[in-house]
Amino acid sequence: MAQFVLQHADEGAAALIESYDPATLEKIGTVRPSSASDVAQAVDRARGAQARWAAVPVVERGKYLLRVRDHLIDNMDRVATLISRENGKPKQEALYADVFPVIYLIDYFAKNAPRLLADSTIDIRIWRFLRRSSLLNRAPRGVVGIISPWNFPFTIPAGEICMALMAGNAAVLKPARATALVGELVGEIYNSVGLPEHLVQVVQGSGSALMAQKLDFIAFTGSVDVGKQIMQQAARNLTPVMLELGGKDPMIICEDANLEVAAAAAMWGAFSNAGQMCSSVERVYVHHKVADTFTRLVLDKTRKLRQGHGLDPNVDIGAMCTQEQYAYVIAQVDRARAQGATILTGGETNPAAGPGYFYKPTVMTHVGQDWECMQDETFGPTLPIVTYRDDAEAVRLANDSKYGLCASVWTRNIRKGEAMARQIVSGSVLVNDVAFTHSLAETPWGGPKDTGIGRTHGREGLLEFTESRHIHINRNTGMKNLWSFPYTPAGLQLFKSTGLMFRSGIRHKARGARGALGALRGTIKSQF
Ligand code: NAP
Ligand code: MG
Repeated sequence: MAQFVLQHADEGAAALIESYDPATLEKIGTVRPSSASDVAQAVDRARGAQARWAAVPVVERGKYLLRVRDHLIDNMDRVATLISRENGKPKQEALYADVFPVIYLIDYFAKNAPRLLADSTIDIRIWRFLRRSSLLNRAPRGVVGIISPWNFPFTIPAGEICMALMAGNAAVLKPARATALVGELVGEIYNSVGLPEHLVQVVQGSGSALMAQKLDFIAFTGSVDVGKQIMQQAARNLTPVMLELGGKDPMIICEDANLEVAAAAAMWGAFSNAGQMCSSVERVYVHHKVADTFTRLVLDKTRKLRQGHGLDPNVDIGAMCTQEQYAYVIAQVDRARAQGATILTGGETNPAAGPGYFYKPTVMTHVGQDWECMQDETFGPTLPIVTYRDDAEAVRLANDSKYGLCASVWTRNIRKGEAMARQIVSGSVLVNDVAFTHSLAETPWGGPKDTGIGRTHGREGLLEFTESRHIHINRNTGMKNLWSFPYTPAGLQLFKSTGLMFRSGIRHKARGARGALGALRGTIKSQF
């Protein structure tokens, strides 16, 4: 197949970033890493572009973004093909989980950001009587650094760029090296429709050169360890960060769940994207009375999955994206086996699917809650199943995790599902579904504990890319403040009485109001 070679301006002597098809291990292209001076220049140019862009009304920014949406739609096959090729996921997955969510997200924010970012009035209660008002205005952060992972190499950076731009920022993206070509393509899609120059730039390499710059905000998606390093580096300049890190998502199957549907969802949630989703189903807790039926259904379905090259339309599971992640999953499952896990299917590599990083979809039982495979993110195609006896135990097990990205509860009793959802410590809890809400541009994504800081998507995600600017207006231009010099006994009385007006009990309020009125006269007199 054709090779892609991409060049960045200042080439320097650094080794090229080589991109491979993880299914065939063929080299598919190279990208030149950006040098430190490339990155410094990119940030510098972004600053100029951002200042001009911030002056563009939000509605007008939306018109540019809708052109990006249309350009992406016109190119969706080419984009999905490259994602599949470089990441390993089936092309259908590249379309529904990478490309379509971006089309949907741009459409949403281009049309709704004007409303979501609109000024709002703040009710300042008694201060209004002094002819004051307050409003909240959303100002852009400035130049935003976006650092993104290889598992969703398109949807994550393209979505963050859209939100950053709608909020009035310029974006400098540093994509993962394993999917550097898709990173370039993100830049190409944004820069093909006449967006102002240097508003969206892509720099390539390790990320350290970007972190060395003074940025106004960092939107990082990746692992917990690197997230902590990013936060430490950001502290040097007190740069605010949004960190979208890992997950170890639990799925609770109640006794009354639709087992057929739940088994299909567990399998999809665990094995799609070869399990390399931050919101993969990583732990199943199933009620002991239905555990056998549920496990049998999962096994029947798993054995029918077809593994192979992502561009083959008859393939369900592709190769894993990186050698490093593949080696980790092999080792993690081997350790679970050594600890005594029962591997019902899979548990080994799949050389028949191709020379690349193929790991068979793996279902296991008899695993301990405190084992590595139940506590540490696997990020691979594995599904450990554990039984529980009552709902309280299920909730306790689900919460026994250092992560909190997504969780799911499966039951026909919606009221009970919702009640259990409220007890789970997690950024998202789905009742009768798993994992997919990253595709809903309208809803927030992220979570507590090691899952990170802040939210992406939805109103909350958009506002991450803004600074709130409070504007306070005093229309009473003819009078000094009542609390300014000179201090007098009347002034003292005024504030004591005003305080009393907030006391419960009508008698106190009335005494406070009378006292305040009396003192007000004295205070005003002393001021003039
Ligand atoms: P990663 O190793 O943390 O890398 C993420 C990004 O950071 C890559 O672009 C990487 O570049 C870059 N990077 C690495 N070290 C850096 C440093 N010292 N300074 C600046 N940048 C640096 O994560 P990954 O292996 O690509 O992705 C898997 C992880 O992402 C999983 O833990 C997964 O759960 C998480 N994830 C979370 C979400 C979410 O929304 N919460 C979504 C998707 C993935 P290189 O790759 O070129 O080294
Ligand atoms: Mg990595």
